[in-house]
Amino acid sequence: MDFKEIIEEIYLNVKNLDDKGKVATYIPELENVDPENFGVYITTLNGFKFGIGNYKDKFSIQSIAKVLSLNLAYQLIGERIWERLGVEPSGTAFNSLVQLEADNGIPRNPFINAGAIVISDILICNLKNPKEDFLAYVRNLSNNPELNYSEKIAASENEVGFRNIALCNFIKSFGNIKNDPTEVLDFYFNLCSIEMTCKELSEVFLFLANNGFSVNSKTSVLTKSQSKRINAIMLTCGFYDESGDFAFKVGLPGKSGVGGGIIAVHPNQYTIAVWSPKLNEKGNSFKGMRFLEEFTTKSELSIF
Ligand code: GLN
Repeated sequence: MDFKEIIEEIYLNVKNLDDKGKVATYIPELENVDPENFGVYITTLNGFKFGIGNYKDKFSIQSIAKVLSLNLAYQLIGERIWERLGVEPSGTAFNSLVQLEADNGIPRNPFINAGAIVISDILICNLKNPKEDFLAYVRNLSNNPELNYSEKIAASENEVGFRNIALCNFIKSFGNIKNDPTEVLDFYFNLCSIEMTCKELSEVFLFLANNGFSVNSKTSVLTKSQSKRINAIMLTCGFYDESGDFAFKVGLPGKSGVGGGIIAVHPNQYTIAVWSPKLNEKGNSFKGMRFLEEFTTKSELSIF
């Protein structure tokens, strides 16, 4: 399979599309990005690597980091995690509050904000120095000691984080947040602020294509069964109320972020990261979605 040729061809097609998306502005600092950025990077398990466009530029990975925090919490407390949150698609927006009242403060899944805030609470309970330890975990997975939070973006989100503050306090009222909401939110805003390039993102996530074994850190990050489960949640919940659409059009587990990044995983084959900051109305990268749809269609490779 000549991935290089396919990627080059699709990249040009999608680059020239009339992008109907808009850069996220509800976190003021996210606006400071060139909306025309567009990068792609693929890493295969058999050693092929290829990038095009702005694949070496760092961007805010935002909700993509929720997969990494889920991984660490899953490693630390195992199946007990599912006492605190579910694995059902929510069918609602990433920052929605509506289901929590009926569900007694148990978020539907770990990738909506409510679920990622509960995961943040679990990590604070189980890590000595939560922010430092989480960053060390991600650096180890990437074999890159330079990865970092963006203090600017975390602070910017904190200033306007009224919905997340509401979510955290509301969940706490049901007893499903154990720590001080201010501390939980500080951790959550920081984890969302981590910056990576498409290349780094694709490399960090390779363990999910490799049955939980990280080539970078040379350790089993997850068991085979856990890795299958994380991929399943990415497939069913990774794009909020557009998850069905992504599965239908792309056919791979994936996760998006409001910084415009998307990571997609083909178990036993590759990971591919795409970045284009303009988002569709569901909060997912307009060009990123289109690129991946064409990529699995042209390569005729997906999990289905
Ligand atoms: N930090 C963002 C928020 O909580 C993450 C959202 C996203 O990337 N979908 O709103």
